[in-house]
Amino acid sequence: MNQLTVKSPAKVNLYLKVRCKRPDGFHDIITLFERVNLCDDMTFRSRQDGKIRILCSHPQVPKGPKNLVYKVARVLRNDFSIKEGVEIYIKKRIPVAAGLAGGSSNAATALLALSKLWKLNISHKKLFSYASQIGSDVAFFLYQSSWALGTERGDKIKKININNKLWHILVVPKIKLLAGKVYGGLKLKLTNKKDDVSILIRNLRKNDMSAVGPLLVNDLEDVVLAMCPQLLRLKQKMRSLGAYGVMVSGSGPCVYGLTRTKAAAQKIRQILVKNYAQVFVVETL
Ligand code: ATP
Repeated sequence: MNQLTVKSPAKVNLYLKVRCKRPDGFHDIITLFERVNLCDDMTFRSRQDGKIRILCSHPQVPKGPKNLVYKVARVLRNDFSIKEGVEIYIKKRIPVAAGLAGGSSNAATALLALSKLWKLNISHKKLFSYASQIGSDVAFFLYQSSWALGTERGDKIKKININNKLWHILVVPKIKLLAGKVYGGLKLKLTNKKDDVSILIRNLRKNDMSAVGPLLVNDLEDVVLAMCPQLLRLKQKMRSLGAYGVMVSGSGPCVYGLTRTKAAAQKIRQILVKNYAQVFVVETL
């Protein structure tokens, strides 16, 4: 096998609570990740010249050592003394720097694909240690699970079994936000201790959607809305069009809304595409 094509999905966070700042500068969080069916395609091809080449359909994605996928290929080549090179083509569909973790997903997909392509027998533990080294959101994508709870930096993963799929409308406004700045603007509240994620999970399992909307949490949302007040109007618009839970995903600027049916999401999309270039209807994957 010297070529492999695989899907690399996006995520949204239905729950994201920031617990405290850690001595290493990151934050301890508790988050409920949901994998959604908005995917990049990644093709991995062996190269005999030993070089790592990244090609991407999106002009803003770095093609060199700053690409998370390049970092994965380089670290695996070095640690396993691989002589072969690799060309990796990323067909980008996940909006870049949107809070949908496209880069982290690509990195996890590369970890799994390259260990197959190069026949590396990487232990589960080592795979997760590479993931944490590359980024906090990478570990979630190593599991083929639709739902998972992330703790510590978001990289300690526990699979969650929810036999229920949700429809979403995703809107990605053209706003630049840096995740580091969003976390930097966070004022941690002492009262912020209650972890009601288990109540949210219980209601998702029961498919009690009227209870789910008010249980969505994102501690980063106030910071994102203060930085981009225009997102408040977008949220109001999405609610008025019938989305029952509307929230910023991760560190934004993507805003997602939950709908009961695909048709309801498509109806909202038809209206929002008039003002926003990137509007997607997606389902739990
Ligand atoms: P997160 O939700 O994990 O914070 P995000 O959705 O906000 O992620 P990404 O799309 O992962 O953001 O990209 C963030 C930055 O990472 C981009 O500005 C880009 O320069 C860089 N980057 C590095 N590798 C990739 C990649 N493979 N795909 C997309 N962006 C990448």
